[in-house]
Order: sequence, then structure tokens, then C-alpha cells
Amino acid sequence: MWKVAKKSINFFEKSLASTSHLSSLRLLSGWDRNEVAKFLDNHNHKTRDGLRNLFKDPLFIPKYNLSLAEERQLAYDRLKRICDSGLFSVKDFWTNPRNIFTAHEITGMVDPSTTTKLTVQFNLFGGTVLKLGTKFHHDKLLDSIDKFEKIGCFALTELAYGNNAVEMETTAHYDKETKEFIINTPTTKAQKYWITNGAIHAHYAIVFARLIHEGVDEGLHGFLVNIRDEKTLAVKDNCSIWDMGYKIGLNGVDNAALWFNKVRVPRTNLLNSTSNIDENGVFTSKIKDKSARKRKRFIVLADQLLAGRVCIAAMTMGSIKLILDQTVRYAASRLCVGPTGKSDTAILTYQLQNRALMPLIAQTYALNFALRYVEERFDKQSEADHAEVVRLCCIIKPLVTWHGENTATVCRERCGGQGYVAANRFGEGIAGMHAGITAEGDNRVIQQKVSKELLELADFEEVGKHMALKSEPIEVQQAARHIACDSVTSSEWQLKLFKARENFILNDLAGRLFVARQDGKSVFETWMLEESDNVQALASSYGENLAIEQFDRAIKTANPSLVPTLKELFSLYALDRIVNDGVFFLSNGFINADQVAQIQVEIQRLCKDLGKDSLELTGGFGIPNHMHHAPIANDWVEYNRVENNGELDNQSYRKLN
Ligand SMILES: Cc1cc2nc3c(=O)[nH]c(=O)nc-3n(C[C@H](O)[C@H](O)[C@H](O)COP(=O)(O)OP(=O)(O)OC[C@H]3O[C@@H](n4cnc5c(N)ncnc54)[C@H](O)[C@@H]3O)c2cc1C
Repeated sequence: MWKVAKKSINFFEKSLASTSHLSSLRLLSGWDRNEVAKFLDNHNHKTRDGLRNLFKDPLFIPKYNLSLAEERQLAYDRLKRICDSGLFSVKDFWTNPRNIFTAHEITGMVDPSTTTKLTVQFNLFGGTVLKLGTKFHHDKLLDSIDKFEKIGCFALTELAYGNNAVEMETTAHYDKETKEFIINTPTTKAQKYWITNGAIHAHYAIVFARLIHEGVDEGLHGFLVNIRDEKTLAVKDNCSIWDMGYKIGLNGVDNAALWFNKVRVPRTNLLNSTSNIDENGVFTSKIKDKSARKRKRFIVLADQLLAGRVCIAAMTMGSIKLILDQTVRYAASRLCVGPTGKSDTAILTYQLQNRALMPLIAQTYALNFALRYVEERFDKQSEADHAEVVRLCCIIKPLVTWHGENTATVCRERCGGQGYVAANRFGEGIAGMHAGITAEGDNRVIQQKVSKELLELADFEEVGKHMALKSEPIEVQQAARHIACDSVTSSEWQLKLFKARENFILNDLAGRLFVARQDGKSVFETWMLEESDNVQALASSYGENLAIEQFDRAIKTANPSLVPTLKELFSLYALDRIVNDGVFFLSNGFINADQVAQIQVEIQRLCKDLGKDSLELTGGFGIPNHMHHAPIANDWVEYNRVENNGELDNQSYRKLN
């Protein structure tokens, strides 16, 4: 098989001027790329195909040497074009939320700025109007949100209150006489910060503020505030909008700081699906909460952040797939030193390249299946499984965005100097992943939430057993925990290890917290100052277990012709993650040195074997040639035949079919 590959690569090199043969590098029998793409995507194919087709439009060709204003305008124009396609609607949150996640994933392959504006318009703004608003707000806004006519932003974060937004200072006093709310920014720290779409485009903001009714703080609520004139875009009286200017990336996104100087909005602008003030000025809320900060009300309010985390995971998944596919395409066509010292061998054949890229490809397959599962559970959620859906939506964002950041960085490096050229798109990938890591809640802080909720499920009999074993000599503990196998390639053994790790960390952390409580330590002291590593490890192990279980589940439903390769990818994902957490598995006795040695050998074999098929594997991500704009994914020699100033205007390098 490798011979075939080599032959193909030589052929590739000879015919760089016409790279149409890229699609003919079919090395895997029974592996139909289109079928793989359908299997990985698994829902809303019409929207995916529609968007892929839309992205043939030259408007989506990346541009680089732009001013801030031009970059923002381009992101706006692209989003408008996407909205005009009518392929998805904010109302899909009622009937088919996966269609919105799909739009994020495919657009994530095109431009992270456009996708960030999309996620705010359709999820944070539109989704919140839909969920927290009632008929009055729906009639006024939903159709125009779909058409990108009424543009919105979501003003939650304040300068001093990001991850701890529940402590925010912005107030909304109710004036019974005029039947209005008075929205006010009391201090510099209370300015709304980072507000996407705010600096240039948004007409409306959903402003989160403490509702003060007859002197009582009723907790945080969302208020619709018209911040700009819909026609002239003039900023409304008593609103101040400060442009946040250049960021380290995503400069097509117009982020703003917003200030409200006693801005008056009608009573009906309260998004009132859970709390209301009636004509007579009487406040009622479906959420009974007697606590001072009314945290329960905040949690309902912040619900759209949950969907937002899935949206971010989906857009990041699109970007990861694009980056991997273009990196492999370059590696197949970039020739460096061969056996005779001549520059005649594709870097794709080097062990160094395969060892770096194959685990990332395997992990992308695993996380793809995990994401699909989370999307499905979000779609089908009920009151009964709400807590679990919350955990799933929270964990998928850290899993995918950290993987994305690592993938973009590794691929940048493995493409050498070409990786540093803006037109080869790694920069926008890295910046996009970082935004995803922070936005909608910092990954580490979200992982705390996941662990906190997992701990509530701890079985105290199991915790007791775990603590009892821990008092034994280390050899006894290791022997008791060891999981034997005939071969480290056994998927059953691999699955057991992931589950055992999650259980171990859960029981261990529950035990430690119990002991700390007995010793009179406060929860804050233990949780925030002593057990942070274990808190993070619990959430991460839960996430990786989710990924491997969903990968296993997917293989069971796959077309038999795909199964052998999917199994190899599964095994590589599992073994790579085990090595990544090797100290844990080895020191606690789950695996022994002999198994570690076998794992190392097996990983090398898998990377080598799968490396031969890598064009097929990333080809299965279903990215059509016309969506590959990076010169390295195309005929990069042709691209460099003429001066191009780093831009992609001369399209001769993309004569692909
Ligand atoms: C590109 C982009 C777009 C955005 N768009 C919007 C938007 O449209 N609307 C909006 O409201 N917001 C938006 N945000 C803001 C985003 O939601 C916040 O940045 C995010 O919630 C984190 O808040 P912060 O930046 O204030 O971080 P902080 O709360 O200051 O946290 C900083 C760091 O402190 C540590 N930390 C904080 N709390 C804890 C804790 N409990 N335990 C342990 N460590 C902790 C973590 O390391 C964390 O990373 C956007 C952000 C970005 C980057």
C-alpha cells in the first residue's frame, strides 16, 4: 500500500501544475470519502451541502491586508450572504437545533470572524430572545434576526465580572410611574465588555442587569435595549459605545464596551418568559429564589450559554478539520530529503510527520462523534435528563477547543515557514481557538462546574472502598487496580481504562473533600486552593471517556467497509490519550511497564500505517476543493510563480475539481 502511496506522491510532484489528481490519491480500499463524510456529519446534510455550495462565491475568498473597518465589513457581508441563503433560522432552536450547530461547523471552515458574528446573532442574541422572550418579542424580532436586518448583541460580561457574571453591577430600576426600566452602568468596572457586534453593527442589545423593584434586588434579568437607530446607525441617547479596536485575532468581529447612563426602556422590554412586571407594577417570577444574589434566576438566564458552548465546539470542529486536511495535503506534496539525499520524498512519509499528525486526526474523529452525541442529546433533552445535558454541553467546549488550539499549533509547525504565511490560514485558526477557549465561560472554570456536578453523583460506598484501599501499601493498591489484557490493542481493555480512571478520580476527590470537611476546612479553601488539579482531572477524564464511548458506539453503527480503519483510529486515540496521562495510569497501577512498552510500539505502528492513508482520512472530513483557499492545500508552486503580496486574488493555483 505504501508503494502505491509513494508512486502517487511522485506523480503528484511531477504534475504540480495540475493538482486535480489530489482526489485520485485513493489508498484505502472500501473507504469512500463521501460516505465517511456523511457518517461523520450524520444530520442536516441539506444545510451542509447548501452552505458548501454557497461558499463557492468569491466573497468567501480570504483577504489579508485589510484595515479594521474593511475586515469588519467583510465579515458583515459574508454573514449577510449566509443569512440570505435561508438555510437555517433562529426558530430552529424550537424544532431542529442541530441545524444551527451545522451552520456553525461549516461556516467555521470559512472564517472565524464571520462565525463569531453568526453565533452571537443566532444563538446568544436570537436564541435568548426566543427563549427568554415571549410572543411580543418574537413577533418583533425573530424574522428580522434570520434576515440579518435587526442585528443584535448579548451584553452579559462586565469589565470586572466575566466568569463571575452573577456579581455584575449594572442595574435596571423599575419606575412605576412611567412604566419603564432605567438601565444604568454605575461604575467603570460595570461597563459591558467584549460585546460582539457591539462596536459597529448591532441595533439591539440584550442587556443583563439586576432588576430592582420597589427597592428589592430581584436578581439578574435580560432587557432588550435599542442601542442604535435601525436606519442611520446613530447611537441612541444616553448609550455610549466604545470600540475595543484591534485584538490578537478575529478582527472582523466588532467588539465593544457599552455604557448606559440611565437609559429608559418600556416595561415590555423585559424578556419575561420567567419573570414579569404587570401593568399594575406587580413583580412575579416562576423561579422562587430567596437568596441575596438570586443565583437560580441567573442560571435560567444564562441558559443560552449552554447552546453557545455547543456552537463554539461545532465551529471549532469545522476549523480543525480544515486545518488537518490542508496540512496533510501539503505534507503529501512537499518534498524534502530522500534516501539518496535528494529532495524527492514527501514529508508525509516521515515518521516525525506521522507521529505528530496521526494522533490529531484520530482525536478529531473521536471528538466528532462526541460532538454529534452532545448535539443529539441537546436536541432531544427533557426535564428528566437536563442535568446530564448541561454537563455534556459544558464538557464538549473544552474538549474541542483545546484540541483545536493544539492541532492548529502543531500543524503550523509541521508546515514549516509556509505555516507562518497568513494566507495558509493557521493564524486565524489559532486565534479562533483561543477565543473559543475563553468565550462562553473560560474552559477551566467550566470544567469546575462539570466536576462539581459529577461529584453530586458519587456513590459513597464506592468512595469508602476507594479510601480504604488507599490506606494499603502502594504495591497492594497497584495490584488491586491493575487491568490485565492479552493485547493493548483490545478496545475492551482500552474502554475499561478510561472508565476506571474517571471512577478513580471521582472517588478520590469525593474522599478528599470529605476528609477536608472533617478537618474543618471551608469548601472554598479545598476546592480553590488545594484540589484544583484533581478538579480539572475529573472533568477531563469524564470528557475523554465520553469521547471514547461515543467513538465505540459509532463504530458499531458504521458501514462494515469503514470499520477496520475506524478501529485503528479508535485504538490510536485511546493509546495516545493513555500515554498522555501515563503518570496517572502507571503510578496508580492500572497499567504496568510492560504494557507501556507495548503501547509505545503499537502507537508507532498505527501512526505509520494510518499515515499512508492520511489523505483519505482527512478527505473523509468532506471539505470540497473549492473551500480550500490556502496555497499549501493547492498548487503552491503555481501560487508562487507570480508576485502575490500574500493575497489570493490570482486564483490560478486553485484549478482543482
Ligand atoms: C472574542 C470574544 C468575544 C466575546 N463576546 C462576548 C459577547 O458577545 N458578550 C459577552 O457578554 N461576553 C463576550 N465575551 C466575554 C467572555 O464571555 C469572557 O471573556 C469570559 O466569560 C471570561 O471572562 P473574563 O474575560 O472577564 O475572565 P475572568 O473572569 O477575568 O477570568 C480570567 C482568568 O481567571 C481565572 N479564573 C476566573 N474565575 C475563576 C474560578 N472561578 N476558578 C479558577 N480560575 C478562575 C481563569 O484562569 C480565567 O481564565 C467575549 C470574549 C471574547 C474573547
